[in-house]
Amino acid sequence: MLVSGSEILLKAHKEGYGVGAFNFVNFEMLNAIFNAALEANSPIIVQASEGAIKYMGIDMAVGLVQILSKRYPQIPVALNLDHGTSFESCKKAIDAGFTSVMIDASHHPFEENVAMTKEVVQYAHSKGVSVEAELGRLMGIEDNISVDEKDAVLVNPDEAEEFVKETKVDYLAPAIGTSHGAFKFKGEPKLDFARLQEVKRRTNIPLVLHGASAIPQYVREAFLATGGDLKGSKGVPFEFLQEAVKGGINKVNIDTDLRIAFMAEVRRVANEDPTQFDLRKFFTPGMQAMQKVIVERMQVLGSAGKA
Ligand SMILES: [Zn+2]
Repeated sequence: MLVSGSEILLKAHKEGYGVGAFNFVNFEMLNAIFNAALEANSPIIVQASEGAIKYMGIDMAVGLVQILSKRYPQIPVALNLDHGTSFESCKKAIDAGFTSVMIDASHHPFEENVAMTKEVVQYAHSKGVSVEAELGRLMGIEDNISVDEKDAVLVNPDEAEEFVKETKVDYLAPAIGTSHGAFKFKGEPKLDFARLQEVKRRTNIPLVLHGASAIPQYVREAFLATGGDLKGSKGVPFEFLQEAVKGGINKVNIDTDLRIAFMAEVRRVANEDPTQFDLRKFFTPGMQAMQKVIVERMQVLGSAGKA
């Protein structure tokens, strides 16, 4: 059943588990996410970026989610706009049927971030839609980074408290050292868990971890075995994800892992049978590989069995 983001995340916040927020750009990704939710009996957040919306058309993005959520009414699902860049973009998504939107004004000065988020919250709440915002910059941090440098990049707990009070935002993505894509850390993975706990204590709302793909060993190997190249990519280890959930993270964004798992299968089929051109022969194993990764993540985050 299609519900608001808060309906899923407030339960996770109270009970202390994480819910995967999985990005999709087509039917195949969405189908794999729903099949994983059925297999693990887990709530899900599915999300589309502005780029994904441009690719699918906003009516297609919403329509696919509505059809699948009607087909599987036992699965609580929220549809989130990932990294909305303006009030207009968020309003479009809300009017089209999204049940959650992220307004990402984190690169603007604090006061501007507050003002933009407030405007989106007012409109969204009048329509029963939940809002996510972000504080700090998504950037990998290293051991030798100074305290000043850290403070310039990562979320400031004082600001987080003030931000939530001022904007009435429903959930917050505090930058604690993750980054987007497959190359998250230069050296050893490192996240600022103490800062996370302080933000959780001061805000007491669901928190969000962006850039949280793990790139599990078997996914990496499947991609490399087909001649793929992931260079020096590094994901967030499962132990870190679990530590983050313990520290107050309830929404965990995952995109890169799904892409790599899917494309490894497409590459494998192409390599094994150069005469193959039936799309289903590529996409069916792609969806199955993706489903396996998602089910495993639901178990790691603790959302399995919570539908
Ligand atoms: Zn993100």
